Amino acid sequence: MEKKKIAILGSTGSIGTQALEVIEEHADKFEVEVLTANSNADLLIAQALKFKPNTVVIVDVTKFEKVSEALWEHDIKTFTGVDALAQVAAMQETDVVLTALVGYAGLLPTIKAIEGKKTIALANKETLVVAGELITKLAAKNGVHIYPVDSEHSAIFQCLVGEFQNKIEKIYLTASGGPFRGKKKEELLEITKEQALKHPNWDMGAKITIDSATLMNKGLEVIEAKWLFNLQPEQIDVIVHPQSIVHSLVQFEDGSMKAQMGLPDMKHPIQYALSFPYRLTSSSPRFNFMDYSELTFEQPDKETFLNLSLAYEALEKGGNLACILNAANEVAVEAFLNDKIKFLEIAEVNQRCMEQIGFIKTPTYEDYVATDSETRVFANSLIQK
Ligand code: NAD
Ligand code: MG
Repeated sequence: MEKKKIAILGSTGSIGTQALEVIEEHADKFEVEVLTANSNADLLIAQALKFKPNTVVIVDVTKFEKVSEALWEHDIKTFTGVDALAQVAAMQETDVVLTALVGYAGLLPTIKAIEGKKTIALANKETLVVAGELITKLAAKNGVHIYPVDSEHSAIFQCLVGEFQNKIEKIYLTASGGPFRGKKKEELLEITKEQALKHPNWDMGAKITIDSATLMNKGLEVIEAKWLFNLQPEQIDVIVHPQSIVHSLVQFEDGSMKAQMGLPDMKHPIQYALSFPYRLTSSSPRFNFMDYSELTFEQPDKETFLNLSLAYEALEKGGNLACILNAANEVAVEAFLNDKIKFLEIAEVNQRCMEQIGFIKTPTYEDYVATDSETRVFANSLIQK
């Protein structure tokens, strides 16, 4: 494998820091070209001094002086603001852009990276949820590959290697079920953010951890899967698998199923997205059957975890509905993390926004931008009450 130059958008987060561990383990295969962060200046500076990228972006303007002062004498270019973030995504020297930033903020930089013909390693699922049709068309037009980092989608992707000619009958996305698996609505009324932030199997950023507790994460992943693998809603099923060992499965037309398995460790799908089509060595711990006498599977509870039903509705109706759901959910999760709404109200805010905001069947980029901001205003008005 030729050495690849990597841009990491969101290098200070859970995925970003694990990606840097992968790169460090394979310093002969990868080098860091760009690092970006929202506001964690100290970590961004430390990462830049260690990995010596060409360019860094700190989105938060108030941190710019600190970052540029620390890095200028090391010959590392420093920029700030959302426009800079979008611009560096398309920087000429980069081979692969890892979108490890969280939420809608990933949309524009991903578009710019695709227009710049960069291979995309996609962790930022919200981008495909918001504008999957636009992104996949743009990628096809520019001959750009989008390799999934999300563990379930990486599993599907790995199962499909060598199956190019063969039709998928359906896929099963596995879900851990989150910390409240098996609980009913009455038991979830007084859930605190501390309880919701404790995920049984994965250590992730705050937003996706809450999304995992509400099953919104699995809902977003269902939509993400549609766009990555060109599937119809009825071809995508969710199965709860609390051990998180089977990362997802593909069922082919002959009824045969392929699964991809391993210990829950995001470094594996991150590395595969960066190294594809090659597999590189890894020092990560190996799965031992003797530690898992049972792997279990059960149906998700779509009534208690309404967000999963909302995602299927958005998937079936299409248009800007998933964009509405995503924006509502970003606002609602932040409000929950700031103790402004209760756990079950997250899905209620999402549902109200989906009912209220105008539906657009074939949205343009401008429509997505308008839908996102209109939904945020409405969601916030629900929260203030
Ligand atoms: P995180 O909160 O730990 O990190 C987010 C990163 O994005 C940080 O570097 C932060 O500085 C940056 N960022 C945040 N808001 C930004 C903004 N408005 N503009 C620019 N940069 C911003 O999040 P994470 O858990 O690493 O998740 C990142 C993405 O990967 C999410 O889309 C998530 O759904 C997806 N993902 C994460 C995991 C995981 O294990 N953490 C697994 C699968 C998918
Ligand atoms: Mg996932």
